[in-house]
Amino acid sequence: MSEEIIVICVTADQKTPFIDNLIGTCFRCGVAVQYRPHVPAGAKFCCQGCWLRDPPPGEPSVTRETLIEAALVLGGDDGKKPS
Ligand SMILES: [Zn+2]
Repeated sequence: MSEEIIVICVTADQKTPFIDNLIGTCFRCGVAVQYRPHVPAGAKFCCQGCWLRDPPPGEPSVTRETLIEAALVLGGDDGKKPS
C-alpha cells in the first residue's frame, strides 16, 4: 500500500507511561517527538501542536498494538471479555 501514514506524537519532553519510546522528528515543525517502537516503517511523525493547528485530511488511525497498550495503561483489559 502506498497510503501515507502519519502518526500523532507527543513531544519528546512529555512524560508518558512508556519507557521504550523512540525519538523522531515532527515532519512539519521539526520538534523532537516520541513514538512507539511498533509504528510502521515509513510513517511520518506529526506533533500534537501541528496536528491541532492544521489536521491532515483523512481519518486518524491507530495500530492494534497502540489500542492494547492504551487499554492496559488506562486500567482496562486488552479487549478480552471478563471471565
Ligand atoms: Zn510539529
